[in-house]
Amino acid sequence: MIRKAFFAVLVLGATWLGASPAFAELRVVTTTTDLGYLVRTIGGDHVQLDTICQGSQDPHFVQARPSYMVLLSRADLVVAVGLELEVGWLPSLVQGARNPAINPGRPGYLEAATAIHPIDVPTGGVDRSRGDIHPFGNPHFWLDPANVKLAAHAIAERMAQLDATNAALFRANDRAFEQRIDRAMVRWTAQMAPYRNAKVASYHATFNYFFHRFGLSAIGYLEDRPGIPPSPAHLVDLIRQIREQHVPVIFHESFYNRSTSDMVAGRSGAHVLALPTSVGGAAGIGSYEQLIDYLVSHFIAGMGQAHP
Ligand SMILES: [Zn+2]
Repeated sequence: MIRKAFFAVLVLGATWLGASPAFAELRVVTTTTDLGYLVRTIGGDHVQLDTICQGSQDPHFVQARPSYMVLLSRADLVVAVGLELEVGWLPSLVQGARNPAINPGRPGYLEAATAIHPIDVPTGGVDRSRGDIHPFGNPHFWLDPANVKLAAHAIAERMAQLDATNAALFRANDRAFEQRIDRAMVRWTAQMAPYRNAKVASYHATFNYFFHRFGLSAIGYLEDRPGIPPSPAHLVDLIRQIREQHVPVIFHESFYNRSTSDMVAGRSGAHVLALPTSVGGAAGIGSYEQLIDYLVSHFIAGMGQAHP
């Protein structure tokens, strides 16, 4: 009787704290909102989800806060992008959390990029002294919907491994998500078809998987190398290339200062597309499909405005 009363107090306590359902839930921390969207889609109410980097932030550079360490100390699973996207901030947070369950190599640590084939893998070795922040290939894989299906599948399998009670539900939700993406992909492919082989430029290499999926051709980047700020000599050369090749648009990640992209556009005749790169990165982008819809519709509108 005393035990039953104690149990009832525990359940009530958990309910008061807003944790529902009380005991079976998997506590997941994702580095990015896109991964958070996948975890929520797969896990529904059976996961307690926290996300560190907001959709309007540069995921390469996040200021480590003690509150993130607290979240990680209680987590059953951490889902990161990988390919060193978070190398500047996640390892120190994981170490500081002192939670062996989420150490790299354990089931509680998953890098989603292990499920995809990276592009832009450097050839001829990596020279870290030059500050390249994509040493193992381009980590921004989530802007290709085909990659997001692979990532979702890997996340669902890991969640099923950690929470066998809900494994069938996680797998069913994953299949439903993949079907949703397949249907949307028909629409995106048709919308983008007229622009196949269009030449574009961009600030950082964030959109390369999007370009790759829909057949756009990146002629260059404002950054000298990934993570290396633009130098005047490089920009002069890029402006010349944009003019000579009549490149209509410059993709610009909305978390970067626009002044350099605007200057290049002004001197080359191209049009700047300032775009979100993640779920939650702009008003009205609450889902992955809305993110890709936003990129597709703003690209098409930008192509209509450009007069190279
Ligand atoms: Zn990057």
